[in-house]
Amino acid sequence: MTAEWIETIIVGGGAAGLSAAQSLGRARRGVLVLDTGRPRNRFADRMHNVLGHDGIAPGELLEIGRREAAGYGVRIEAVGVRAVREPRPDEAADGAGGPDRPGAGETRLVVELEDGRSIGTRAVILASGVTDVLPEIPGLAGQWGRGAAHCPYCHGWEVRGERIAVLGTSPMSLHQVQLLRQWTDELTVFTAGIGELADATRAELLARNIRLVDRPVAEVVGDEDGVLRSVRTDDGRMHLIDALFTFGAIRPNDDAIAALGLARTEAPFGSFLAVDPLGRTSHPRIWAVGNVVNPSAAVPLAVSSGSMAGGGVNLALAEADFARAAETAETAVVR
Ligand SMILES: Cc1cc2nc3c(=O)[nH]c(=O)nc-3n(C[C@H](O)[C@H](O)[C@H](O)COP(=O)(O)OP(=O)(O)OC[C@H]3O[C@@H](n4cnc5c(N)ncnc54)[C@H](O)[C@@H]3O)c2cc1C
Repeated sequence: MTAEWIETIIVGGGAAGLSAAQSLGRARRGVLVLDTGRPRNRFADRMHNVLGHDGIAPGELLEIGRREAAGYGVRIEAVGVRAVREPRPDEAADGAGGPDRPGAGETRLVVELEDGRSIGTRAVILASGVTDVLPEIPGLAGQWGRGAAHCPYCHGWEVRGERIAVLGTSPMSLHQVQLLRQWTDELTVFTAGIGELADATRAELLARNIRLVDRPVAEVVGDEDGVLRSVRTDDGRMHLIDALFTFGAIRPNDDAIAALGLARTEAPFGSFLAVDPLGRTSHPRIWAVGNVVNPSAAVPLAVSSGSMAGGGVNLALAEADFARAAETAETAVVR
């Protein structure tokens, strides 16, 4: 058997993972959250459009979440998960069972940690988020979460009416353009990364008084305090702006379960694990929630998906507990 065992393991302690942890902790399950501490929005000073928490620092929400989860007995460790795998026969354990002790045959999955430990468990929730791979333009990474962002609902209000620009990276950027026109009359679009614009699209954008710049962007420029001021195109021209919206490639942080070959779905932003409405993957013991399966999920949606999966895991374990009891009971019916 593995040296350590806990009833459920959550990979990732961001908004989704902590929400799942709270649900499971309150359901009196044993819960271990393993987290490398790099939430997607760690670059931003403030978080918006999150009911009840509008304007607080992203880290503050997670601090509250960790405190609340700990109050229900959830254990949180700052360590990465390398792999989730099926148990070997020798890892099947016996014993009386409980939140931190396996019952017979209850090691259904083994989680391997980056510090070399292996932990047995009944169920895993993957809540490991995504990595934003930004276009390699000098100055852009330093502005991410400050002068530059991807989500108008999160950061549009703060720059309403100002000089906003969209750095196009694919035809999907046109949706960002349509949205952002709602926040300002002074919208510039750097179109080089979008590809050739159809005449009708170009006419539509111009009809909405949007300024189109076709030259590729060479640099994103801040002042001596790092405040975003302009964008330089490859012809040397400086375009004064107050805020930049863009997105790059979005890579789900799901390497830890890659070897299991679970079903995936092709989405506009790439290939993501396929899940049902409760977050269950094609593996009956693995759920996945938050950005790792839905990169468009802002914090409230990440929280709600974690809560759903926490309930889903508890239900699945409760059903298994009843099935096991029925299998082993000597007296099944009392009249
Ligand atoms: C710049 C920026 C600003 C944003 N601002 C807002 C905003 O104002 N409002 C809003 O609603 N949304 C905002 N978002 C979106 C927000 O970041 C996501 O909705 C949210 O982070 C998703 O939560 P999550 O728990 O799915 O993933 P994350 O918050 O990314 O958490 C995943 C956690 O898993 C950990 N992890 C990854 N791999 C492993 C592993 N193998 N082992 C252990 N741990 C692992 C990571 O370190 C991280 O701590 C913003 C995003 C960006 C990029």
